Amino acid sequence: MSEETIFSKIIRREIPADILYQDDLVTAFRDINPKAPLHVLVVPNILIPTADDMAQEHEPYLGRMMTVAAKIAREAGVAEDGYRLLMNCRDHGGQEVYHIHLHLLGGKPLGPMLA
Ligand code: 5GP
Repeated sequence: MSEETIFSKIIRREIPADILYQDDLVTAFRDINPKAPLHVLVVPNILIPTADDMAQEHEPYLGRMMTVAAKIAREAGVAEDGYRLLMNCRDHGGQEVYHIHLHLLGGKPLGPMLA
């Protein structure tokens, strides 16, 4: 059985976060330690610990995460110049919080990630 993380408390608004968007499927909030002028985390409102736990039944959540990230990027004015969407998986992927989250990074040139 997977353990809840701090993100569940943010989703339930039990601890503070700068929430930019929330609906029945996903919540988006600013990263507490931003790596770019715009750094937002988009999370499903249910606990899916890692990308490896994603299943077909989660597709409504996963699809909404992508479209909400794109909407926030447009509204923040970074879409025209571009931005990065990424998800880390487990130890080798650098995942720290075991509740999947899409990082939306933008507002400056990020350079090639795999250079
Ligand atoms: P990961 O390394 O798991 O892909 O990314 C976890 C992200 O969550 C990090 O960028 C980190 O700064 C962010 N984070 C961790 N704890 C909190 C928190 O309590 N509030 C917010 N807003 N972000 C957090």
